Amino acid sequence: MGGVTSLNDLPLRDNLRGLTPYGAPQLHVPVALNVNENTHGIPEEVAQDIVAALAVAVTTVNRYPDREFTELRVALSRYLGHGLTRENIWAANGSNEVLQQVLQAFGGPGRSVLGFAPTYSMYPLLASGTGTRWIAGGRDAEFELSPATAVEWVDRVAPDLVFLCSPNNPTGTPLSLETIAAVYSATDGIVVVDEAYAEFGAPEEPGALTLLPGRERLLVSRTMSKAFAFAGARVGYLAADPAVTDALRLVRLPYHLSALTQAAAVAALAHTPAMLAMVDDIRSQRDRLVSELARLGYSPRRSASNFVLFGGVEDPRATFEALLADGVLVRDVGIPGHLRVSAGTEAETTSFLDALEALGRP
Ligand SMILES: *Cc1c(COP(=O)(O)O)cnc(C)c1O
Repeated sequence: MGGVTSLNDLPLRDNLRGLTPYGAPQLHVPVALNVNENTHGIPEEVAQDIVAALAVAVTTVNRYPDREFTELRVALSRYLGHGLTRENIWAANGSNEVLQQVLQAFGGPGRSVLGFAPTYSMYPLLASGTGTRWIAGGRDAEFELSPATAVEWVDRVAPDLVFLCSPNNPTGTPLSLETIAAVYSATDGIVVVDEAYAEFGAPEEPGALTLLPGRERLLVSRTMSKAFAFAGARVGYLAADPAVTDALRLVRLPYHLSALTQAAAVAALAHTPAMLAMVDDIRSQRDRLVSELARLGYSPRRSASNFVLFGGVEDPRATFEALLADGVLVRDVGIPGHLRVSAGTEAETTSFLDALEALGRP
């Protein structure tokens, strides 16, 4: 067989033609600050406990895993609190899979999902993959999203689903509970609040979980990939009315969460304080990024996450390449004049700031 077939030669679904896959570069560099991971390794004693749990799980891996991942749902409901029980919890291989299942259940051909650009680059891809029409709404100045602007978009396009990213990736912008509540009231559809970075917000700020009671179409999605330092294990989850988790059972593949994933996640959740121990430190590195980027003459945006979007970059591509040549990987998110950088360890953050300062004034 020849090997020259290209995507365009294949009988690809029409709505996938011309798309490019999600493609944050996976380069091996000393300082990788491009995909908002927790750059601190997990504590040794937690790693040992996870390995012990995996060793037990592997002895029964000839059998299919618990299709209902009950122990994991109990552990996640305890972690979230807010009176949630396992009936309120759903989980999958990363919150990306959770969001895909939400679109499979509530979106699909003839339906649409509204988001507010610039926002998480996976939303339009998950929409095309499920045949759901993606509608990119706009934001206010400084990437903020007021209740009035959000509701205006909902009224204008009458979407079947709304994706609210809080705080928003790639801008870091926090989202008010007023905007979430206003969007919920303005639609009969499903409202998803993607709180992938919730743990990095100000501890005294209430999150979207507080809005769940009485709102059966509200879904709050979370992940173990960011604050929880578990990106490689692929565990995302959501909290919602039990009817929603029942709907997701219609579309998930049977046994979608492997026995090893379930065991590792349960073991990690048993060490929640240790797993989250670096969050304070990451928050202070984020705040340091904001103040130092301003001192260097850039325009950092306010951030409630573990990354900072900064403007005032004359040639983002050139700055990206120059930093990479210094062993520092950041993210060009395609917003003119801007780059995004994750808060790393103190040393990593210092490497980034030193490399940027060495490039001279923006
Ligand atoms: C990183 C991120 C996720 C997490 O994806 P996982 O599949 O759980 O690793 C979800 N939403 C947003 C906005 C993100 O930035």
